[in-house]
Amino acid sequence: MSFNTLGLSEKVLAAVEEAGYNEPTAIQAGAIPHVLERRDVLGIAQTGTGKTASFTLPMLTLLEKGRARARMPRTLILEPTRELAAQVQENFEKYGKNHKLNVALLIGGVSFAEQDRIIDRGADVLIATPGRLLDHVERGKLMLQGVEILVIDEADRMLDMGFIPDIERICKLIPFTRQTLFFSATMPPEIQRLTETFLQNPARVEVARTSSTSENVTQRLKAAMTKDYEKRAALRELLEGAEELKNAIVFCNRKRDITTLFRSLERHGYNVGALHGDMDQRTRMMMLENFRKGNVTLLVASDVAARGLDIPDVSHVFNYDVPIHAEDYVHRIGRTGRAGRKGAAYTIVTPDDQKYLSAIESLTQQSIEWIGEAVDFEAAEQERKSRKRGRRAPKAENLEQDNEAAAPKPKSRRKPRPEKSDEAAAPTAEAEAEAEAEETAAPARRRPQRQETAKQPAAERSARNHRQSKGEPAFGHGGHIPAFLLREPRPKKAS
Ligand code: AMP
Repeated sequence: MSFNTLGLSEKVLAAVEEAGYNEPTAIQAGAIPHVLERRDVLGIAQTGTGKTASFTLPMLTLLEKGRARARMPRTLILEPTRELAAQVQENFEKYGKNHKLNVALLIGGVSFAEQDRIIDRGADVLIATPGRLLDHVERGKLMLQGVEILVIDEADRMLDMGFIPDIERICKLIPFTRQTLFFSATMPPEIQRLTETFLQNPARVEVARTSSTSENVTQRLKAAMTKDYEKRAALRELLEGAEELKNAIVFCNRKRDITTLFRSLERHGYNVGALHGDMDQRTRMMMLENFRKGNVTLLVASDVAARGLDIPDVSHVFNYDVPIHAEDYVHRIGRTGRAGRKGAAYTIVTPDDQKYLSAIESLTQQSIEWIGEAVDFEAAEQERKSRKRGRRAPKAENLEQDNEAAAPKPKSRRKPRPEKSDEAAAPTAEAEAEAEAEETAAPARRRPQRQETAKQPAAERSARNHRQSKGEPAFGHGGHIPAFLLREPRPKKAS
Protein backbone atom coordinates (compact mmCIF):
# COMPACT_ATOMS: atom_id res chain seq x y z
CA MET A 1 0.00 0.00 0.00
CA SER A 2 1.17 3.53 -0.72
CA PHE A 3 0.78 6.69 1.39
CA ASN A 4 -0.81 8.33 -1.68
CA THR A 5 -3.99 6.31 -1.27
CA LEU A 6 -4.73 7.44 2.28
CA GLY A 7 -6.10 10.92 1.53
CA LEU A 8 -3.21 12.93 3.03
CA SER A 9 -2.44 16.41 1.68
CA GLU A 10 0.36 17.15 -0.80
CA LYS A 11 2.40 18.95 1.85
CA VAL A 12 2.19 15.99 4.22
CA LEU A 13 3.00 13.49 1.48
CA ALA A 14 6.11 15.52 0.59
CA ALA A 15 7.28 15.43 4.23
CA VAL A 16 6.60 11.68 4.44
CA GLU A 17 8.67 11.13 1.33
CA GLU A 18 11.47 13.18 2.80
CA ALA A 19 11.30 11.06 5.98
CA GLY A 20 12.05 8.11 3.72
CA TYR A 21 8.97 6.04 4.46
CA ASN A 22 7.95 3.80 1.60
CA GLU A 23 4.64 2.54 2.87
CA PRO A 24 2.34 3.12 5.83
CA THR A 25 2.56 0.81 8.82
CA ALA A 26 -0.53 -1.18 9.80
CA ILE A 27 -1.76 1.36 12.36
CA GLN A 28 -1.22 4.18 9.86
CA ALA A 29 -3.05 2.39 7.06
CA GLY A 30 -5.87 1.53 9.48
CA ALA A 31 -6.26 4.84 11.31
CA ILE A 32 -5.40 7.65 8.86
CA PRO A 33 -8.48 7.33 6.56
CA HIS A 34 -10.82 7.35 9.59
CA VAL A 35 -9.12 10.40 11.09
CA LEU A 36 -9.46 12.22 7.78
CA GLU A 37 -13.17 11.32 7.73
CA ARG A 38 -13.36 13.03 11.14
CA ARG A 39 -14.36 9.87 12.94
CA ASP A 40 -13.32 9.03 16.48
CA VAL A 41 -10.60 6.39 16.51
CA LEU A 42 -9.69 3.82 19.12
CA GLY A 43 -6.17 2.69 18.24
CA ILE A 44 -4.83 -0.33 20.05
CA ALA A 45 -1.16 -0.24 19.29
CA GLN A 46 2.08 0.00 21.13
CA THR A 47 4.99 2.28 20.49
CA GLY A 48 7.26 1.23 17.69
CA THR A 49 4.32 0.55 15.38
CA GLY A 50 4.37 4.01 13.79
CA LYS A 51 1.45 5.06 16.00
CA THR A 52 2.57 8.70 16.36
CA ALA A 53 2.47 9.36 12.62
CA SER A 54 -0.94 7.68 12.48
CA PHE A 55 -2.39 10.76 14.20
CA THR A 56 0.14 13.51 13.37
CA LEU A 57 -0.05 13.05 9.58
CA PRO A 58 -3.87 13.32 9.25
CA MET A 59 -3.98 16.08 11.88
CA LEU A 60 -1.55 18.13 9.78
CA THR A 61 -3.75 17.59 6.75
CA LEU A 62 -6.89 18.68 8.63
CA LEU A 63 -5.14 21.69 10.17
CA GLU A 64 -4.34 23.17 6.79
CA LYS A 65 -7.79 24.80 6.91
CA GLY A 66 -8.40 27.41 9.61
CA ARG A 67 -6.31 29.46 12.03
CA ALA A 68 -5.49 29.39 15.72
CA ARG A 69 -6.84 31.98 18.17
CA ALA A 70 -5.01 33.28 21.24
CA ARG A 71 -5.33 31.01 24.27
CA MET A 72 -7.64 28.66 22.38
CA PRO A 73 -5.73 25.74 20.90
CA ARG A 74 -7.28 24.01 17.92
CA THR A 75 -6.04 20.57 18.77
CA LEU A 76 -4.81 18.98 21.99
CA ILE A 77 -2.57 15.95 22.44
CA LEU A 78 -2.23 14.48 25.92
CA GLU A 79 0.88 12.48 26.74
CA PRO A 80 1.76 10.78 30.04
CA THR A 81 5.38 11.91 30.20
CA ARG A 82 7.39 14.95 29.26
CA GLU A 83 9.64 12.88 27.02
CA LEU A 84 6.74 11.53 25.02
CA ALA A 85 5.26 15.00 24.70
CA ALA A 86 8.59 16.32 23.41
CA GLN A 87 8.81 13.41 21.01
CA VAL A 88 5.40 14.15 19.55
CA GLN A 89 6.49 17.75 19.12
CA GLU A 90 9.51 16.53 17.16
CA ASN A 91 7.16 14.50 14.98
CA PHE A 92 5.12 17.61 14.20
CA GLU A 93 8.30 19.46 13.30
CA LYS A 94 9.43 16.62 11.04
CA TYR A 95 6.15 16.00 9.23
CA GLY A 96 4.94 19.60 9.43
CA LYS A 97 8.01 21.18 7.88
CA ASN A 98 5.94 22.37 4.89
CA HIS A 99 3.28 23.93 7.14
CA LYS A 100 3.37 27.12 9.12
CA LEU A 101 1.71 25.86 12.25
CA ASN A 102 2.19 26.89 15.84
CA VAL A 103 3.02 23.82 17.90
CA ALA A 104 3.15 24.41 21.65
CA LEU A 105 4.40 22.16 24.41
CA LEU A 106 3.06 22.40 27.96
CA ILE A 107 5.06 20.19 30.25
CA GLY A 108 6.29 20.41 33.82
CA GLY A 109 9.75 21.71 34.56
CA VAL A 110 9.39 24.72 32.24
CA SER A 111 8.40 28.16 33.57
CA PHE A 112 4.72 29.15 33.43
CA ALA A 113 5.58 32.63 32.11
CA GLU A 114 7.31 31.18 29.07
CA GLN A 115 4.41 28.80 28.42
CA ASP A 116 1.87 31.63 28.86
CA ARG A 117 3.59 33.55 26.07
CA ILE A 118 3.35 30.52 23.76
CA ILE A 119 -0.35 30.01 24.52
CA ASP A 120 -1.04 33.72 23.97
CA ARG A 121 0.30 33.45 20.44
CA GLY A 122 -2.36 30.84 19.68
CA ALA A 123 -1.56 27.16 19.17
CA ASP A 124 -2.64 25.01 16.26
CA VAL A 125 -1.35 22.01 18.15
CA LEU A 126 -1.00 21.88 21.91
CA ILE A 127 0.91 18.93 23.31
CA ALA A 128 0.67 18.58 27.07
CA THR A 129 0.97 16.39 30.10
CA PRO A 130 -2.38 16.35 32.01
CA GLY A 131 -1.19 17.98 35.25
CA ARG A 132 0.49 20.96 33.63
CA LEU A 133 -2.43 21.46 31.26
CA LEU A 134 -4.91 21.66 34.15
CA ASP A 135 -2.60 24.08 35.98
CA HIS A 136 -2.85 26.46 33.03
CA VAL A 137 -6.63 26.02 32.76
CA GLU A 138 -7.04 26.73 36.48
CA ARG A 139 -4.93 29.89 36.18
CA GLY A 140 -7.39 31.07 33.53
CA LYS A 141 -4.68 31.28 30.89
CA LEU A 142 -5.97 28.54 28.65
CA MET A 143 -9.39 27.76 27.22
CA LEU A 144 -10.23 24.40 25.76
CA GLN A 145 -13.55 25.33 24.11
CA GLY A 146 -11.89 25.70 20.71
CA VAL A 147 -10.34 22.22 20.62
CA GLU A 148 -11.49 20.39 17.48
CA ILE A 149 -9.34 17.28 17.83
CA LEU A 150 -8.34 15.65 21.11
CA VAL A 151 -5.68 12.94 21.14
CA ILE A 152 -5.23 10.78 24.23
CA ASP A 153 -2.03 8.83 23.75
CA GLU A 154 -0.65 5.93 25.82
CA ALA A 155 -3.87 5.74 27.83
CA ASP A 156 -2.83 2.62 29.73
CA ARG A 157 0.30 4.39 30.88
CA MET A 158 -1.88 7.32 32.00
CA LEU A 159 -3.82 4.81 34.06
CA ASP A 160 -0.63 3.41 35.65
CA MET A 161 0.45 6.94 36.53
CA GLY A 162 -2.88 7.86 38.12
CA PHE A 163 -3.85 10.40 35.44
CA ILE A 164 -7.31 9.05 34.63
CA PRO A 165 -9.22 11.54 36.86
CA ASP A 166 -7.28 14.37 35.15
CA ILE A 167 -8.12 12.95 31.73
CA GLU A 168 -11.80 12.78 32.67
CA ARG A 169 -11.72 16.41 33.80
CA ILE A 170 -10.01 17.51 30.59
CA CYS A 171 -12.47 15.60 28.41
CA LYS A 172 -15.34 17.39 30.11
CA LEU A 173 -13.77 20.79 29.38
CA ILE A 174 -13.70 20.17 25.63
CA PRO A 175 -16.85 20.49 23.47
CA PHE A 176 -18.66 17.25 22.80
CA THR A 177 -18.49 17.96 19.08
CA ARG A 178 -14.75 17.36 19.05
CA GLN A 179 -13.08 14.44 17.31
CA THR A 180 -11.30 12.11 19.72
CA LEU A 181 -8.35 9.87 18.85
CA PHE A 182 -7.55 7.45 21.62
CA PHE A 183 -4.47 5.20 21.74
CA SER A 184 -3.57 2.51 24.20
CA ALA A 185 -1.34 -0.54 24.06
CA THR A 186 -3.65 -2.51 26.34
CA MET A 187 -7.34 -2.30 27.18
CA PRO A 188 -7.82 -2.89 30.91
CA PRO A 189 -11.41 -2.37 32.19
CA GLU A 190 -10.76 1.23 33.36
CA ILE A 191 -9.59 2.17 29.88
CA GLN A 192 -12.50 0.37 28.28
CA ARG A 193 -14.87 2.39 30.48
CA LEU A 194 -13.13 5.62 29.52
CA THR A 195 -13.51 4.90 25.81
CA GLU A 196 -17.19 4.10 26.30
CA THR A 197 -17.72 7.43 28.05
CA PHE A 198 -15.70 9.74 25.85
CA LEU A 199 -15.59 8.26 22.34
CA GLN A 200 -18.49 8.34 19.91
CA ASN A 201 -18.86 5.34 17.68
CA PRO A 202 -15.10 5.00 17.25
CA ALA A 203 -13.38 3.14 14.44
CA ARG A 204 -11.41 0.45 16.22
CA VAL A 205 -7.95 -0.19 14.77
CA GLU A 206 -5.93 -2.94 16.43
CA VAL A 207 -2.56 -3.81 15.02
CA ALA A 208 -0.92 -6.36 17.25
CA ARG A 209 -1.72 -8.06 20.49
CA THR A 210 -0.02 -6.22 23.30
CA SER A 211 1.27 -9.51 24.59
CA SER A 212 3.24 -10.19 21.47
CA THR A 213 6.97 -9.67 21.44
CA SER A 214 8.90 -9.07 18.26
CA GLU A 215 10.39 -12.10 16.55
CA ASN A 216 13.46 -9.97 15.86
CA VAL A 217 14.34 -9.91 19.54
CA THR A 218 16.33 -12.74 21.09
CA GLN A 219 15.24 -13.17 24.71
CA ARG A 220 17.27 -14.82 27.46
CA LEU A 221 17.10 -15.20 31.25
CA LYS A 222 19.98 -15.13 33.67
CA ALA A 223 19.80 -16.38 37.24
CA ALA A 224 21.08 -14.38 40.17
CA MET A 225 20.47 -14.44 43.88
CA THR A 226 18.57 -11.54 45.41
CA LYS A 227 21.46 -9.55 46.84
CA ASP A 228 22.03 -6.37 44.87
CA TYR A 229 25.75 -6.84 44.41
CA GLU A 230 25.09 -10.30 42.94
CA LYS A 231 22.62 -8.81 40.51
CA ARG A 232 25.09 -6.13 39.52
CA ALA A 233 27.76 -8.78 38.95
CA ALA A 234 25.26 -10.76 36.83
CA LEU A 235 24.55 -7.66 34.76
CA ARG A 236 28.22 -7.00 34.17
CA GLU A 237 28.67 -10.59 33.08
CA LEU A 238 25.82 -10.16 30.60
CA LEU A 239 27.26 -6.89 29.32
CA GLU A 240 30.67 -8.41 28.84
CA GLY A 241 29.29 -11.45 27.09
CA ALA A 242 26.78 -9.60 24.88
CA GLU A 243 27.40 -9.89 21.18
CA GLU A 244 27.39 -6.79 19.00
CA LEU A 245 26.41 -4.53 21.85
CA LYS A 246 26.07 -1.08 20.36
CA ASN A 247 23.96 0.54 23.04
CA ALA A 248 21.50 -0.64 25.63
CA ILE A 249 18.74 0.39 27.99
CA VAL A 250 19.00 -1.18 31.44
CA PHE A 251 15.61 -1.19 33.15
CA CYS A 252 15.17 -0.99 36.92
CA ASN A 253 11.89 -1.12 38.81
CA ARG A 254 12.83 1.47 41.42
CA LYS A 255 14.34 4.92 41.15
CA ARG A 256 16.79 4.41 43.96
CA ASP A 257 18.17 1.34 42.22
CA ILE A 258 18.75 3.41 39.11
CA THR A 259 21.10 5.69 41.01
CA THR A 260 22.94 2.81 42.67
CA LEU A 261 23.31 0.88 39.45
CA PHE A 262 24.35 3.96 37.50
CA ARG A 263 27.13 4.68 40.02
CA SER A 264 28.22 1.06 40.04
CA LEU A 265 28.46 0.82 36.26
CA GLU A 266 30.29 4.13 36.15
CA ARG A 267 32.78 2.85 38.72
CA HIS A 268 33.31 -0.19 36.57
CA GLY A 269 34.27 1.97 33.64
CA TYR A 270 31.10 1.81 31.54
CA ASN A 271 29.90 4.76 29.51
CA VAL A 272 26.57 5.13 31.28
CA GLY A 273 23.72 7.58 31.83
CA ALA A 274 20.54 7.52 33.92
CA LEU A 275 16.96 8.48 33.21
CA HIS A 276 14.19 8.64 35.78
CA GLY A 277 11.15 10.74 36.63
CA ASP A 278 12.83 12.76 39.39
CA MET A 279 15.40 14.28 37.07
CA ASP A 280 14.66 17.78 35.84
CA GLN A 281 13.40 18.16 32.33
CA ARG A 282 16.56 19.67 30.87
CA THR A 283 18.76 16.91 32.25
CA ARG A 284 16.40 14.23 30.96
CA MET A 285 16.35 15.72 27.47
CA MET A 286 20.11 16.09 27.42
CA MET A 287 20.58 12.53 28.58
CA LEU A 288 18.24 11.24 25.93
CA GLU A 289 19.93 13.24 23.23
CA ASN A 290 23.35 11.94 24.31
CA PHE A 291 22.03 8.40 24.20
CA ARG A 292 20.51 8.93 20.77
CA LYS A 293 23.75 10.38 19.45
CA GLY A 294 25.79 7.53 20.89
CA ASN A 295 27.69 9.66 23.42
CA VAL A 296 26.21 7.46 26.15
CA THR A 297 26.21 3.70 25.56
CA LEU A 298 24.20 2.39 28.49
CA LEU A 299 21.07 4.10 29.75
CA VAL A 300 19.81 2.98 33.16
CA ALA A 301 16.13 3.88 33.16
CA SER A 302 12.75 3.42 34.78
CA ASP A 303 9.63 2.33 32.90
CA VAL A 304 8.02 5.72 33.25
CA ALA A 305 10.99 7.59 31.83
CA ALA A 306 11.55 5.16 29.00
CA ARG A 307 7.99 4.40 27.97
CA GLY A 308 7.42 5.14 24.33
CA LEU A 309 10.81 6.68 23.71
CA ASP A 310 11.62 6.69 20.06
CA ILE A 311 15.21 5.57 19.98
CA PRO A 312 15.18 3.54 16.78
CA ASP A 313 18.48 1.78 17.08
CA VAL A 314 18.87 0.14 20.50
CA SER A 315 20.80 -3.12 20.16
CA HIS A 316 20.15 -4.52 23.65
CA VAL A 317 17.70 -4.29 26.53
CA PHE A 318 18.65 -5.55 29.98
CA ASN A 319 16.02 -6.05 32.63
CA TYR A 320 18.04 -5.56 35.78
CA ASP A 321 14.74 -6.21 37.55
CA VAL A 322 11.97 -8.44 36.25
CA PRO A 323 9.07 -6.03 35.69
CA ILE A 324 6.21 -6.40 38.14
CA HIS A 325 3.59 -5.87 35.41
CA ALA A 326 3.95 -8.40 32.62
CA GLU A 327 2.94 -5.80 29.99
CA ASP A 328 5.95 -3.73 30.96
CA TYR A 329 8.16 -6.60 29.82
CA VAL A 330 6.62 -6.36 26.36
CA HIS A 331 7.12 -2.60 26.32
CA ARG A 332 10.67 -2.80 27.59
CA ILE A 333 11.87 -5.35 25.12
CA GLY A 334 10.00 -3.45 22.40
CA ARG A 335 12.72 -0.82 22.73
CA THR A 336 15.01 -3.11 20.75
CA GLY A 337 14.50 -4.92 17.46
CA ARG A 338 12.63 -1.92 16.04
CA ALA A 339 12.07 -1.13 12.38
CA GLY A 340 13.06 -4.64 11.27
CA ARG A 341 16.42 -4.66 13.07
CA LYS A 342 17.68 -7.49 15.25
CA GLY A 343 17.67 -6.98 19.01
CA ALA A 344 18.45 -8.83 22.22
CA ALA A 345 16.75 -8.69 25.61
CA TYR A 346 18.26 -10.19 28.76
CA THR A 347 16.44 -10.48 32.07
CA ILE A 348 18.07 -11.11 35.43
CA VAL A 349 15.85 -13.37 37.50
CA THR A 350 16.13 -13.93 41.25
CA PRO A 351 14.23 -16.53 43.27
CA ASP A 352 11.76 -13.82 44.35
CA ASP A 353 10.90 -13.05 40.72
CA GLN A 354 9.45 -16.41 39.84
CA LYS A 355 5.81 -15.34 39.93
CA TYR A 356 6.53 -12.29 37.76
CA LEU A 357 8.41 -14.43 35.29
CA SER A 358 5.49 -16.88 35.12
CA ALA A 359 3.12 -13.96 34.42
CA ILE A 360 5.37 -12.75 31.58
CA GLU A 361 5.61 -16.21 30.08
CA SER A 362 1.87 -16.70 30.25
CA LEU A 363 1.16 -13.25 28.76
CA THR A 364 3.60 -13.68 25.89
CA GLN A 365 2.71 -17.36 25.54
CA GLN A 366 6.29 -18.36 25.27
CA SER A 367 8.92 -19.93 27.44
CA ILE A 368 12.02 -17.76 27.61
CA GLU A 369 15.33 -19.59 27.41
CA TRP A 370 17.80 -19.50 30.26
CA ILE A 371 21.44 -18.86 29.62
CA GLY A 372 22.84 -22.32 30.19
CA GLU A 373 20.47 -24.90 31.62
CA ALA A 374 17.07 -23.88 32.94
CA VAL A 375 17.32 -22.92 36.58
CA ASP A 376 14.89 -24.44 39.00
CA PHE A 377 15.30 -22.12 41.97
CA GLU A 378 13.38 -24.36 44.30
CA ALA A 379 15.56 -27.36 43.52
CA ALA A 380 18.65 -25.17 43.77
CA GLU A 381 17.63 -23.98 47.20
CA GLN A 382 16.93 -27.53 48.37
CA GLU A 383 20.25 -28.68 47.04
CA ARG A 384 22.13 -25.83 48.66
CA LYS A 385 20.52 -26.65 51.98
CA SER A 386 21.31 -30.33 51.74
CA ARG A 387 24.95 -29.58 50.87
CA LYS A 388 25.16 -27.38 53.94
CA ARG A 389 23.56 -30.03 56.11
CA GLY A 390 26.33 -32.37 55.04
CA ARG A 391 28.91 -29.93 56.41
CA ARG A 392 27.40 -29.02 59.73
CA ALA A 393 24.30 -29.76 61.69
CA PRO A 394 22.18 -26.60 61.64
CA LYS A 395 21.17 -25.21 64.97
CA ALA A 396 17.89 -23.35 65.28
CA GLU A 397 19.64 -20.03 66.02
CA ASN A 398 21.79 -20.37 62.90
CA LEU A 399 18.95 -20.71 60.46
CA GLU A 400 18.65 -16.99 59.79
CA GLN A 401 22.31 -16.74 59.01
CA ASP A 402 22.22 -19.55 56.48
CA ASN A 403 21.06 -17.44 53.61
CA GLU A 404 23.77 -14.90 54.06
CA ALA A 405 26.43 -17.53 54.52
CA ALA A 406 25.87 -18.56 50.92
CA ALA A 407 26.66 -15.07 49.66
CA PRO A 408 30.23 -14.05 48.91
CA LYS A 409 31.91 -12.61 51.93
CA PRO A 410 32.80 -8.97 51.40
CA LYS A 411 36.49 -8.61 52.16
CA SER A 412 37.67 -5.05 52.10
CA ARG A 413 41.31 -4.25 52.28
CA ARG A 414 40.48 -0.66 52.96
CA LYS A 415 38.48 -0.88 56.12
CA PRO A 416 38.30 -3.82 58.54
CA ARG A 417 34.69 -4.59 59.40
CA PRO A 418 33.49 -5.94 62.71
CA GLU A 419 32.36 -9.52 62.21
CA LYS A 420 29.04 -9.38 63.99
CA SER A 421 26.55 -12.11 63.34
CA ASP A 422 23.56 -9.79 62.87
CA GLU A 423 25.52 -7.79 60.34
CA ALA A 424 26.22 -10.96 58.45
CA ALA A 425 22.55 -11.89 58.44
CA ALA A 426 21.44 -8.61 56.84
CA PRO A 427 24.16 -6.95 54.78
CA THR A 428 23.80 -3.21 54.73
CA ALA A 429 24.11 -1.00 51.67
CA GLU A 430 27.55 -0.22 53.02
CA ALA A 431 28.48 -3.90 53.05
CA GLU A 432 27.28 -4.23 49.49
CA ALA A 433 29.21 -1.15 48.46
CA GLU A 434 32.26 -2.62 50.12
CA ALA A 435 31.80 -5.85 48.27
CA GLU A 436 31.69 -3.85 45.06
CA ALA A 437 34.61 -1.66 46.04
CA GLU A 438 36.56 -4.84 46.56
CA GLU A 439 35.76 -5.96 43.04
CA THR A 440 36.86 -2.61 41.67
CA ALA A 441 39.86 -2.20 43.96
CA ALA A 442 41.47 -5.54 43.20
CA PRO A 443 41.36 -5.96 39.46
CA ALA A 444 45.01 -7.00 39.31
CA ARG A 445 44.37 -10.00 41.50
CA ARG A 446 41.16 -11.25 40.00
CA ARG A 447 41.04 -9.67 36.59
CA PRO A 448 44.35 -8.90 34.94
CA GLN A 449 42.65 -6.52 32.51
CA ARG A 450 39.05 -5.42 32.61
CA GLN A 451 38.72 -5.24 28.87
CA GLU A 452 40.10 -8.75 28.51
CA THR A 453 37.52 -10.01 30.97
CA ALA A 454 34.86 -8.17 29.00
CA LYS A 455 35.68 -10.35 26.05
CA GLN A 456 36.20 -13.50 28.05
CA PRO A 457 34.33 -16.30 26.35
CA ALA A 458 31.46 -17.91 28.21
CA ALA A 459 33.22 -21.30 28.26
CA GLU A 460 36.20 -19.79 30.06
CA ARG A 461 33.98 -18.11 32.62
CA SER A 462 32.15 -21.34 33.16
CA ALA A 463 35.46 -23.20 33.64
CA ARG A 464 36.46 -20.67 36.27
CA ASN A 465 33.21 -21.26 38.08
CA HIS A 466 33.83 -24.98 38.01
CA ARG A 467 37.25 -24.51 39.52
CA GLN A 468 35.57 -22.64 42.33
CA SER A 469 33.36 -25.60 42.96
CA LYS A 470 36.42 -27.65 44.07
CA GLY A 471 35.16 -30.58 42.11
CA GLU A 472 31.98 -31.05 44.08
CA PRO A 473 29.27 -32.59 41.98
CA ALA A 474 25.98 -30.73 41.58
CA PHE A 475 22.78 -32.53 40.79
CA GLY A 476 19.74 -31.61 38.78
CA HIS A 477 21.26 -28.88 36.63
CA GLY A 478 22.83 -30.75 33.75
CA GLY A 479 26.21 -29.37 32.82
CA HIS A 480 25.37 -25.90 34.11
CA ILE A 481 25.88 -25.05 37.73
CA PRO A 482 24.41 -21.69 38.77
CA ALA A 483 27.11 -19.53 40.34
CA PHE A 484 25.27 -19.11 43.60
CA LEU A 485 25.39 -22.85 44.20
CA LEU A 486 29.14 -22.84 43.97
CA ARG A 487 29.91 -20.40 46.72
CA GLU A 488 31.67 -21.50 49.87
CA PRO A 489 29.50 -21.12 52.93
CA ARG A 490 31.06 -18.77 55.46
CA PRO A 491 32.20 -20.69 58.52
CA LYS A 492 30.45 -19.55 61.67
CA LYS A 493 32.62 -17.30 63.83
CA ALA A 494 33.15 -18.31 67.38
CA SER A 495 31.40 -15.67 69.47
P1 AMP B 1 6.21 5.25 16.91
O1 AMP B 1 5.47 3.97 17.04
O2 AMP B 1 5.34 6.38 16.54
O3 AMP B 1 7.04 5.53 18.14
O4 AMP B 1 7.24 5.12 15.67
C1 AMP B 1 8.30 4.20 15.69
C2 AMP B 1 9.34 4.49 14.62
O5 AMP B 1 8.85 4.15 13.32
C3 AMP B 1 9.79 5.94 14.52
O6 AMP B 1 11.20 5.93 14.47
C4 AMP B 1 9.21 6.44 13.23
O7 AMP B 1 10.04 7.43 12.66
C5 AMP B 1 9.17 5.18 12.40
N1 AMP B 1 8.10 5.16 11.39
C6 AMP B 1 6.87 5.71 11.49
N2 AMP B 1 6.16 5.47 10.36
C7 AMP B 1 6.94 4.75 9.55
C8 AMP B 1 6.77 4.19 8.24
N3 AMP B 1 5.64 4.31 7.57
N4 AMP B 1 7.80 3.52 7.71
C9 AMP B 1 8.96 3.38 8.39
N5 AMP B 1 9.19 3.87 9.62
C10 AMP B 1 8.20 4.56 10.20
